[in-house]
Amino acid sequence: MKKSEQDSNFEMAQSRKSRWNPMMPVLVGLFFSLPWFAWSHYIGNEWTGHRSSLDEAIIESCVVFVFLFISIYLYQIINGRSALEIHALICTKCLAIKPFGKERQCECGGQLEPLEDRMQRLQEEKKRLEKQLKHISHT
Ligand SMILES: [Zn+2]
Repeated sequence: MKKSEQDSNFEMAQSRKSRWNPMMPVLVGLFFSLPWFAWSHYIGNEWTGHRSSLDEAIIESCVVFVFLFISIYLYQIINGRSALEIHALICTKCLAIKPFGKERQCECGGQLEPLEDRMQRLQEEKKRLEKQLKHISHT
């Protein structure tokens, strides 16, 4: 079966969005390197009795950060999508949630769209309604 142009455009847009986004590797790197720094400098290794100086702790946590950042970012670029991002599709008609795949149509006949896109739209809709509500309560 030949893939329609719309489908491949859709997939390209999907992977472009998350592939080069360094947000997740940075967050994961910080999530581990900051506690590492605190642990190493303030608490130290209980077993060896060694406590790193400020300089040592900074270097150690930088190494942890760079190591994590590079490995996660590389994984993401090679695989074409974020390692930790949830990829799911939602049916616009019956709201069934499906795993991310090639299928773009639900059994009920509705269209499947990426869950993250839908959530973003709902956020925008919420903001719009809040603005309206504010407007009403002022008049
Ligand atoms: Zn459906």
